[in-house]
Amino acid sequence: MSKTIFQKIIDREIPAKLAHEDEHCIAIHDINPQAPVHVLVIPRRPIARVGEAKASDAALLGHLLLAAADLARKLGIAESGYRLVINNGRDGGESVPYLHVHLLGKRPLAWPPG
Ligand code: 5GP
Repeated sequence: MSKTIFQKIIDREIPAKLAHEDEHCIAIHDINPQAPVHVLVIPRRPIARVGEAKASDAALLGHLLLAAADLARKLGIAESGYRLVINNGRDGGESVPYLHVHLLGKRPLAWPPG
């Protein structure tokens, strides 16, 4: 199967603006930001989508959320607030079949989402 865009970014085959990296994940600024802060937190271990995560991925899933919260502090939006989004499947709006957590902030975000 061909590599997803995020696998290529992790493998440094295509560039991205890095916001964070550690041994379990990378975080990059979204190429088409939907808010002044729009970062994607992506696990190094490939998981297609959250619906395909296994019990053995529990620590990794937790790590992604903690990394996102840490990034929100670093990017100065912890106080004003932010939203974490995981799109799963067609109706969820998933466009890249490689699990990632969106971190959105620095503007008021409407609810319910579209
Ligand atoms: P999804 O729709 O799958 O939840 O989110 C995919 C996200 O990846 C979108 O917000 C889209 O703008 C972003 N994206 C797609 N291709 C690239 C790319 O090549 N570089 C970066 N930084 N973001 C990308």
